Amino acid sequence: MAIGSFRRECVRSASPIGLQPQIHYVGRTRFSNVVEDSVQEAFMAEAIRLATESVTSGKGGPFGAVVVKDGHVVGRGTNGVTLHNDPTAHAEVMAIRDACRRLGEYHLTGCHLYVSCMPCPMCLSACYWARIERVYYAARAEDAAAAGFDDVVIAEELGLPLASRRLPLLHVNVGDALAPLRLWREKDDKVPY
Ligand SMILES: [Zn+2]
Repeated sequence: MAIGSFRRECVRSASPIGLQPQIHYVGRTRFSNVVEDSVQEAFMAEAIRLATESVTSGKGGPFGAVVVKDGHVVGRGTNGVTLHNDPTAHAEVMAIRDACRRLGEYHLTGCHLYVSCMPCPMCLSACYWARIERVYYAARAEDAAAAGFDDVVIAEELGLPLASRRLPLLHVNVGDALAPLRLWREKDDKVPY
C-alpha cells in the first residue's frame, strides 16, 4: 500500500465516531484526534524505533511491532529468534504475547497492530488467532526479501497442493485420533477460544 493510501486509510479508520474526541498516547506523548495522521505515524515510528534498536543492540532481526488499544500502546515486541533460540519469536508474536500478558487476555479484540514490515504467514495467522482488528505495516515483503528474509516463499508454498510442497505434511491413520476432539466437544466446563 502506498504511503498516501496508507494515510488515507488511517484517517478513515481513526475516528469512526466523527467528532467525538479521542486521545492517544505514544510513550508519554499525548495526541488528540485533530492530529490523527500524526498519531498513526507515531505508532508506526515506535515500531520502527524498536526494529532499529533490535539491530543496533545486536539482540535480533530488524523487526519491531506494537499493539495499540484505545489509543494506548499495550504491547511491544522485537525479533528475538536468535536471542531466545526460538524460531517463532517474531516481533509480531512477541508484541501479541506482551499485550496479552499485560491485559490478562488471550484475545486482543479491539486492538491494532503496527509492525515495521509486512507480517509473514505465521505472524499473520497469529493476528487472526489473537483477533487483532487491523494490521498496519511499513516495509513491504519484497523489502524484507532484499534483506534476506524471504517469507514470500512460505506464502507461495501454502498456496500449493499438499503433495507439491517441500515440507511433507503426512496423514497418519490411528484409531484414537479423534478422542481428544470428542472429549473437548463434550466437555461442559471448557474455556472456548
Ligand atoms: Zn513473522
